[in-house]
Amino acid sequence: MTSSSVIRQLLPGEREPVHSYQQVTFKQQRMKTTTNMASEFGLMAGQALRVVMPGKVALPGEDSYLQARQIYNGAVEYQPALFALCETVADVQAAVRVAREHNLALSVRGGGHDWAGRSLRDRGLVIDLSKMRRVEVDVKAQVATAEGGATAGDLVAAAAPHNLVGVTGTASGVGMAGLTLGGGYGPLTPQFGLGLDNLLGAEIVLGDGRKVNADAFENAELYWALRGGGGNFGVVTSMRIRLHPLRELLAGIILFPWSEAKSVLHGYADIAASAGDEFAVITNILSGPDGDPVVLLAPIWTGDQAPGKQAIAELQRLGSPILAKIGPMTYSDLLRTFDANFVNGRNYELQTRWLPKLTPEPIRALLDAGS
Ligand SMILES: Cc1cc2nc3c(=O)[nH]c(=O)nc-3n(C[C@H](O)[C@H](O)[C@H](O)COP(=O)(O)OP(=O)(O)OC[C@H]3O[C@@H](n4cnc5c(N)ncnc54)[C@H](O)[C@@H]3O)c2cc1C
Repeated sequence: MTSSSVIRQLLPGEREPVHSYQQVTFKQQRMKTTTNMASEFGLMAGQALRVVMPGKVALPGEDSYLQARQIYNGAVEYQPALFALCETVADVQAAVRVAREHNLALSVRGGGHDWAGRSLRDRGLVIDLSKMRRVEVDVKAQVATAEGGATAGDLVAAAAPHNLVGVTGTASGVGMAGLTLGGGYGPLTPQFGLGLDNLLGAEIVLGDGRKVNADAFENAELYWALRGGGGNFGVVTSMRIRLHPLRELLAGIILFPWSEAKSVLHGYADIAASAGDEFAVITNILSGPDGDPVVLLAPIWTGDQAPGKQAIAELQRLGSPILAKIGPMTYSDLLRTFDANFVNGRNYELQTRWLPKLTPEPIRALLDAGS
């Protein structure tokens, strides 16, 4: 039987089949060929890379491959052809060049917290920076130089002994480069801006393997693009990040029963609309201890303590909290509190929306979703 004999005339009223037998066969053959070619290219690239960076290449079937493939979101199924486990800028340059020579697509793995799994290029070469996490602090200039794989936790730990902080997100494990290149908001954003506002300059390996610097004076357009442009302009091997003096902040959690959710969210929206720069509040709807939904407000005050206590007391008065735990703490303590809620390796589905302000319509949607 030839494949064309399977294609038959449609009967009156019958819908066009999605694939004919012939189309499916060709498609499967094409996919098989592409997969085989990709794995062949991967093996050849792996051999070439092992010559320049021995002991730092992970291929499918090896323990180091399984370890490198683990990221925050366990639902991501991409299977890269190989990992370049870089330890130096020269390693990164070598990996970029080998990927070009072998026609392999590239991705960069920083902290591995992008939930869509963009750090793992399916059947491509992954430049893994998780061994490049050094952070040095220039205390006088209040600037940190962080390697491309440094996480928020690494930055915070290096700055803390000097009573300095950098703008990070809420989770210690998130990579500073991934965060900053995408914008980067967090508990300190109202006071000190987004992550990208605090990027003073970066060292980058470009697509042709060259290493360049980008800041306000050198490669200024690249510097502009890096601040919020995502991870597409090269491999950031180090970043200079502005730090800020902050010894302690006032923070904690307030938990409200679901019966008060509507009035709490409306009251919170009013407070947020007129809050000063020292005040950030993270709001959550989650399952309480008995399984019922609760509203959690996590206030963070970075200014003087007395007005901070008043501002937080105003939040508490929005209802009758089931629990309120507020006190002075360091920024490291604060991140540790949030970290308890982030579990690596589970299957996650996430969607995000930005709102200019919290109006009744999104509040209604949140209440419906929570219920
Ligand atoms: C639990 C959790 C909490 C989060 N909280 C916040 C938050 O509070 N605020 C916030 O703004 N975001 C937050 N995020 C989102 C997070 O900032 C982004 O997903 C970010 O891209 C993760 O960076 P990463 O380096 O950890 O991830 P990766 O998955 O390693 O990388 C993410 C992207 O950046 C690229 N990239 C990473 N490093 C480099 C580099 N050195 N050079 C070039 N490209 C690079 C990667 O190729 C990929 O495209 C959170 C994510 C999670 C999972």
